[in-house]
Amino acid sequence: MDKRDYYEVLGVSKNASKDEIKKAYRKQALKYHPDKNPGDSEAENKFKEAAEAYEVLRDDNKRARYDRYGHAGLGGQNGFSGGGMTMEDIFSSFGDIFGDAFGGFGGFGGFGGGRSRQQVNKGSNLRVRVKLNLKEIAKGAEKKIKVKKYVSCQSCGGSGAADSNSYSTCSTCHGTGQVTRVTNTLLGQMQSTSTCPSCGGEGKTITNKCNTCFGEGIVKDEEVIKINIPAGVGKGMQMTVSGKGNAARRGGIPGDLIVMIDEEEHPELIREGKDLIYDLFISIPQAVLGTNVEIPTIDSKVKIKIDQGTQPGKILRLRGKGLPEVNGYGKGDLLVQVNVWIPKKLDGDEQKLMEKMMDSDSFTPRPEKSDRGFFERMRSYFE
Ligand SMILES: [Zn+2]
Ligand SMILES: [Zn+2]
Repeated sequence: MDKRDYYEVLGVSKNASKDEIKKAYRKQALKYHPDKNPGDSEAENKFKEAAEAYEVLRDDNKRARYDRYGHAGLGGQNGFSGGGMTMEDIFSSFGDIFGDAFGGFGGFGGFGGGRSRQQVNKGSNLRVRVKLNLKEIAKGAEKKIKVKKYVSCQSCGGSGAADSNSYSTCSTCHGTGQVTRVTNTLLGQMQSTSTCPSCGGEGKTITNKCNTCFGEGIVKDEEVIKINIPAGVGKGMQMTVSGKGNAARRGGIPGDLIVMIDEEEHPELIREGKDLIYDLFISIPQAVLGTNVEIPTIDSKVKIKIDQGTQPGKILRLRGKGLPEVNGYGKGDLLVQVNVWIPKKLDGDEQKLMEKMMDSDSFTPRPEKSDRGFFERMRSYFE
């Protein structure tokens, strides 16, 4: 199941103002609020979906990334949790947005204070490693990954119960989902309310468990998950695909799928951030006379000119032939580092030729400032 578009979830246009987004979320939150729809899991999902959409669209940064890359843009590398919010999160983050509206509804209670919060099961996160080659990193990639994980049980719809009659009211809390304890203190009686430990706040217990999942609501299975990886990612980066981790016991919220990016080494190009480096070897005559050589790029080859009298250590910069930045701004370069290969064996004629050159005036080193050392030049490129 693919995630819905956040704008669609809130029913606003792509260029909606912050105020419009807030109003739209408020409307959705009130409509699907769990207190208004007790036991309706579809309403609960809609409620969570709206909260997740709001969490992204209210934040300029997250919204910009989402506009650019969709759900994949909200990967973990920038500290964004990628949704998968629990009810607790929703109430603590956005409680204020509908607090006043509910003030008048005596029965609903407020959100900040006395409301008994049902404990929601959360599935565990899953981690997968995805290896990409340079071409995929340059363009961005869609990957399909087969993952072994817990999924919601088909037989019972994730409830864990054999059928709708397989429940009885919890005897500990008598269906309220919470237990109240009264303690005597110096200041008088203190009353504290907490989630019922017997039913976890559900108010009911299963009397007849589902035969497939033995009451857990989840079973082990395999799922093929499509992941959109944005261009420019690098080794060690993480992306979070919310809701694609393990399903939770008995209808809770699934965990997240955390994608760890790994990089396949390119046979010829070395990556240095958004730049690529190519180690070019030319012969002594090529360096002396000048030549044209072919350089590998990410997706093809380019011809470049080597000037007459090129010094070893010279770096040629091919602008824009590197990798895009992961945030979408700018592109790196391909740096061609020129090496001059020195032969290790010579035949008789060559030996004589070299001896002649050794004594010649043109071959006597007279370095100019522009011939400065390799390391200094490297430093100036990477500053
Ligand atoms: Zn089941
Ligand atoms: Zn109970």
